[in-house]
Amino acid sequence: MGFLEKRIKEQLIDTGTYRELPVLHGKNDGTVILEGKEMVNVCSNIYLGLANHPRLKEAAHKAIDTYGVGSGAVRTISGNMDLHEELDRAIAKFKHEPAAVAFQSGYACNVGALQAFVEKDDVVFTDELNHASIIDGLRMTKAKKFIYKSCDMKHLEELIKEHRGQYKNAFIISDGVFSMDGNLAPLPELVKIAKAHDCLTYVDDAHGSGTMGSHGRGTVDHFGLHGQIDFIVGTLSKAVGVVGGYVTCSLEARQWLLHRGRPLLFSTSQPPMVIAACIEALKVMTESDELSKKLWENANYFKAGIAKLGFNLIESESPITPVVIGAEDKSLQFSNNLRKNGVFSAPIIFPTVPKGTGRIRCMLSASHTKANLDTALAAFEKVGKEMGII
Ligand SMILES: *Cc1c(COP(=O)(O)O)cnc(C)c1O
Repeated sequence: MGFLEKRIKEQLIDTGTYRELPVLHGKNDGTVILEGKEMVNVCSNIYLGLANHPRLKEAAHKAIDTYGVGSGAVRTISGNMDLHEELDRAIAKFKHEPAAVAFQSGYACNVGALQAFVEKDDVVFTDELNHASIIDGLRMTKAKKFIYKSCDMKHLEELIKEHRGQYKNAFIISDGVFSMDGNLAPLPELVKIAKAHDCLTYVDDAHGSGTMGSHGRGTVDHFGLHGQIDFIVGTLSKAVGVVGGYVTCSLEARQWLLHRGRPLLFSTSQPPMVIAACIEALKVMTESDELSKKLWENANYFKAGIAKLGFNLIESESPITPVVIGAEDKSLQFSNNLRKNGVFSAPIIFPTVPKGTGRIRCMLSASHTKANLDTALAAFEKVGKEMGII
């Protein structure tokens, strides 16, 4: 048996975690075409429905006509078009921060920014539930790392008091919105602790961008903490509807990244139509908060419906709606049964979440109609009763 065949059998098939990827035929929107059927889609990060917005599509088409389809090089050589500079400025302006640098993805941004900012003599205090891209970015630094219990500010402060003194720069790193439970990081307290102990703050707000705060400016805006978080990471791939990631920071931090952000130095920059669509998305979001209002209306309607049906709904502070099913196999079965009833959902199981807390994580969006949500609720009710969960 080849080594991968053996691994696939032992680690995937035998543990019941092997799966085929779903294939969408057509756009990723409130409904999708899957297995030849139209289904209500509750597992995409398309919070504002911008991936199919006519203004974004038009901006992308125009950019293709003017700039072609590829940027031709890394940003630091010749792949830095006026569009890339414009996007950086537009992000900084939208987020009310001094400067921003866009990367090819949120993942590339965390990996690049953490490598660039965190050095050998530094220390990092990182939330145990931080996103994989933060974990990977930190693996590429030689700094000392301490992991604190998720959102536990007492534990964070204890670790800082004990260890901060022995290192040069200290970073506190947290997601803004935790993607599994949809809860928010206690940023006001985190900022207080950072100030008291001379720590820098780094918040990855991928799920908060576009969903939290005024016009979707994010969790930092939600808490009124503008100017108090040193580095805010966001993604252009979720609510913004396209692809890319960014970090907002000081002007000097931007200068440093343009020299030491390795994904900018060694990987080709985003294609022009992507950048143009992102710029247009920020315009749409700035001009009106209609889409984020619609998103919240839909999320609240769906959450209320699920709670009323008697499911174990994790208390979430964001539009993320985790419905706990329990055992791993039951969660997978639940999701399959939803699919048979016209609802496309994603089961999230161990090791992504603790054993026995398998769930269907529902992602609501502004592109769902009320009829879509009612279809989804009816399917949850039917499958929940059939499987004896409600
Ligand atoms: C999705 C996500 C990312 C990655 O963003 P991409 O643009 O998809 O690469 C990074 N951090 C967090 C917290 C995320 O949820």
